Amino acid sequence: MIGTAESPLRVAIVGAGPSGFYAAAHLLKNRNHPELVASVDLFDKLPTPFGLVRAGVAPDHPKIKSVTRVYDKLAAHPLFRFYGGVEFGRDLSREELLERYHAVIYTVGAQSDRKLWVDGEDLPGSFPATTFVAWYNGHPDATDLQFDLSAERAVVVGNGNVAIDVARMLLLTQEELSTTDTADHGIEGIAGGGVKEVVICGRRGPAQSAFTNPEILELGEMDDVDVIVDPADLELDEHSAAALDQAGEATARKNVDILREYAARPLKGAPKRIVLRFFVSPVEIQGDGKVERVVLERNELVADGGALRAKPTGERETLEAGLVFRAVGYKGVELAGIPFEERSGLIRNEDGRVTNDAGTHLHGEYTAGWIKRGPSGVIGTNKKCATDTVNELLHDLTTGHLASPADPDPASLDALVRERVPNVVDWAGWQAIDAVETAAGEPQGRPRVKLVTLESLHEAATGAGAPA
Ligand code: NAP
Repeated sequence: MIGTAESPLRVAIVGAGPSGFYAAAHLLKNRNHPELVASVDLFDKLPTPFGLVRAGVAPDHPKIKSVTRVYDKLAAHPLFRFYGGVEFGRDLSREELLERYHAVIYTVGAQSDRKLWVDGEDLPGSFPATTFVAWYNGHPDATDLQFDLSAERAVVVGNGNVAIDVARMLLLTQEELSTTDTADHGIEGIAGGGVKEVVICGRRGPAQSAFTNPEILELGEMDDVDVIVDPADLELDEHSAAALDQAGEATARKNVDILREYAARPLKGAPKRIVLRFFVSPVEIQGDGKVERVVLERNELVADGGALRAKPTGERETLEAGLVFRAVGYKGVELAGIPFEERSGLIRNEDGRVTNDAGTHLHGEYTAGWIKRGPSGVIGTNKKCATDTVNELLHDLTTGHLASPADPDPASLDALVRERVPNVVDWAGWQAIDAVETAAGEPQGRPRVKLVTLESLHEAATGAGAPA
């Protein structure tokens, strides 16, 4: 029987971010099925684990990053293995995994970004927030990017927490950055930059903003920064006012309260400013060879079905700005051979079971996290999402609907990976990287100094001696 000590349930998880770890946890330590014996191999294309916790969460939010301690504990489980630096589709194919595991769970997150689709969007100085975030967080794929932050005014498009992270990071001082694990090149670039004002542009109103309360509150607590909100934007239309009265809208209500407080707050005369604009969309980014201006168009809200949509009014203004960051959402990227819905950017799935174009479940293939449901929620949201998927998987185990691997021997997979990727990084290798980074951070009073190239990460990993 599969799922016993003699024949453990063998699961491959592709993507070592929060969803991957939560899926692994529900397989290895399942309170509802204490008798279940599963073994989990967790693959990541980077030599390091933790996905967006390492490369997305803002470096000045160390408490959020401390969730990795939970993942560390799980990694000590004897039936858990980490394979870092192994890319699905390049080093191992879907077929090769299905020959070796009863189930594969894809938890690769959303690795690209949504565009604005306006003229000038690709001018130098206009960037997706996702790549800026990856850059200041030391993601090896972003290390070689150049961000000229000498402009005085930056425009950030979008009203979500990523927009807030980017606005805040742009204005942190050398002193504030120097206690964080911001990549060294990020500290140098931001602290040496000239940004004095960040204008955050929401296409709808304050009541529709996607910020969460602690994040919007944090802006008002920044030293050296005045937060500016036009009180006129806070006069709610009848639809917004009615929406805010509904149960389940506590976050939006509090957001509006916080914004009202900002609008009423006297300015400190601080050297830097965050301006929160609402009801505006960029319609063109202009400049001679680089971003110099953003044309904004005023919107009004119109009821459209159950939602309130932004409708352009034709009223335009031009804002001088040397930088534009679009923070309008992450987007999933197709994995080789896995059914994908281009429009939504999601793996085709039903409650986490991967389905083909006809809607038929593909035996043994599952998905969780942002690539299953879209880029929403906080880290903990992925716990429920991954747990739900694993529950479906375990149900399929009882009904005999998993894959039937011809070669489930863990040693055979291990040999295959090491043949394909001789410098594969296992958990001991990651611990060696971690030790090098934290030791470098200690004398500077920083949690770590990140290694930001694949070469340096692999070098640090092998410092651990022979992989376990
Ligand atoms: P998000 O929360 O979905 O926000 C996206 C924003 O972009 C929305 O305000 C959306 O406005 C706007 N937008 C979309 N298309 C647009 C367009 N064409 N023009 C103008 N605006 C547009 O996404 P996110 O900020 O990328 O964050 C992703 C997830 O990570 C969220 O769940 C977020 O809470 C989470 N996160 C959490 C933290 C934290 O806890 N500290 C930090 C970062 C991210 P509409 O509403 O009008 O569509």
